[in-house]
Amino acid sequence: MSQHDLIITGGHLITMEPAVPDGPGTVVVRNGRIAEVRATDAETPPGAQVIDARGGIVLPGLVDTHRHTWQSATRHFGLDWSLMDYLGAAFMRLAPALRPADVHAATLLGALNALDAGITTLVDWSHIQNTPEHSDAAVAALRESGIRGVFAYGWPQLEPLRWVGDSDAELPADVRRVRAELSDDQARVTMALAVRGPEMSRMSAVRRDLELAASLGLRATMHLSNAGSIAQLDADGLLDDTITLVHACGCGDDELKLAADLGVTASVSPLIEQTMPGLGTPATARLAAAGVVTGLSVDTEIATSGDLFSQLRAALAQHRGTGNPASLSARDLLAMATIGGATAAGLHDRTGSITPGKSADLIVVAADTVGLAPVLDPVASVLLGAHPGLVRTVLVAGTPVKRDGVMTGPVRQALDAARETVEHLRGVAPDVFSG
Ligand SMILES: [Zn+2]
Repeated sequence: MSQHDLIITGGHLITMEPAVPDGPGTVVVRNGRIAEVRATDAETPPGAQVIDARGGIVLPGLVDTHRHTWQSATRHFGLDWSLMDYLGAAFMRLAPALRPADVHAATLLGALNALDAGITTLVDWSHIQNTPEHSDAAVAALRESGIRGVFAYGWPQLEPLRWVGDSDAELPADVRRVRAELSDDQARVTMALAVRGPEMSRMSAVRRDLELAASLGLRATMHLSNAGSIAQLDADGLLDDTITLVHACGCGDDELKLAADLGVTASVSPLIEQTMPGLGTPATARLAAAGVVTGLSVDTEIATSGDLFSQLRAALAQHRGTGNPASLSARDLLAMATIGGATAAGLHDRTGSITPGKSADLIVVAADTVGLAPVLDPVASVLLGAHPGLVRTVLVAGTPVKRDGVMTGPVRQALDAARETVEHLRGVAPDVFSG
């Protein structure tokens, strides 16, 4: 490998790093990391690969902080479902029938879709640990996709009601084997614990799940939306900066302030929270006002779009629609999709902004296009005009996973396998598909 293995030149940089100015510039990548960021075109050293980003906007790869990737094969299927419909169909009917191969197919498809849309880091909120083979299938798919993945180990769905509601069930002991498999916390695929939290299990289980996460050296992510839940966790001394709260729609402003003081982070899913009855109103602006570091998320492709540009625009419309005087700027929102998300994923030391030393997780958005040009305000251009079709190049740790608009990963394999999964599900749960 040459000393300079890759140079991205000619583009307009949005770094999301206060110390590294935006503007025309060159990113020099060496051994998968950002070695230099220059405000001028760089000489191309012999042997270096060059990515010509002229007419493009170069951004840190986006970060999705919460996606049930195992549901990606049944994408866009539950648009009209309420939260209760979703829980009934996806969890009670489909999840117990999923084979390891189905989890592999859906996770691979979802991760490839994320990469195609410029998402280089994905927290795979994987509550489909029906057997050890299911866990292994999800991890294998994340690795094969090329994405920077956080495999958030959840719980099984073979008997869904055993694990949630009034449950005090212990998570499967296999979690320790998976942790041993994912023991390298610097690897491209790392691990977290997807815990049930006080709204999905008894407090005794919440405490045990969080103690398990701590004992395994893992961050924890939990769905939590009700007023009083943060206060309850705090009263039990269970909140700290290793925890990410998903949704937080109904939490009071005083509770969000408390969470911020404790270093708790959050994940907002702006589109599905507004379109699926039962989830609540996105707390995007309230979280920001409280000082909670917040990332954005897709949640599930069953009922929402798999790209973060859609989520950014949904967040913009929702919080400005409330007439909130503390409106978030375009840059505030883009920060949630990048460095904020990286912080919530526990990976801000290596991704989420363009600065020397971080991993070269970078995307190039074509801006010399009828949809974006002329670019007067690059951050607003990305917020309002970018879409996956304009994401020309995607690098994860310096490795191109999309180049000149073409994915390099196993797209055909993922599509064929996902279709097979749907056929399998139609066979075992025809009623779900007959509506
Ligand atoms: Zn979720």
